[in-house]
Amino acid sequence: MSTHNHPRRIVLRSLLATGCAWCLPRLSLAQSGKMTKAQAQYQNQPKGDQKCGNCMHFIPPDSCLIVEGSISTDAWCKLWIKKPAEEPVGKM
Ligand code: SF4
Repeated sequence: MSTHNHPRRIVLRSLLATGCAWCLPRLSLAQSGKMTKAQAQYQNQPKGDQKCGNCMHFIPPDSCLIVEGSISTDAWCKLWIKKPAEEPVGKM
């Protein structure tokens, strides 16, 4: 009788394990509010023209809105998004 349910149990356990593997990084993100450098694949070098200093998430002098820790202006991560050009102030 119990051997009849065995494949179903294996499938259920696999689904549970897969779900946990998917959830754990998101739970850790939810706790800190930011991604770790490893999760963001942070590197200490720019990627071509892309670097933290011209990313829209960069907060001078050395922070990031979405990646935790000290951030270098010349670093890069996979979440890089080009910072929008600043519009001139005072023109009407
Ligand atoms: S590239 Fe952008 S998102 Fe990534 S660490 Fe630098 S400032 Fe943050």
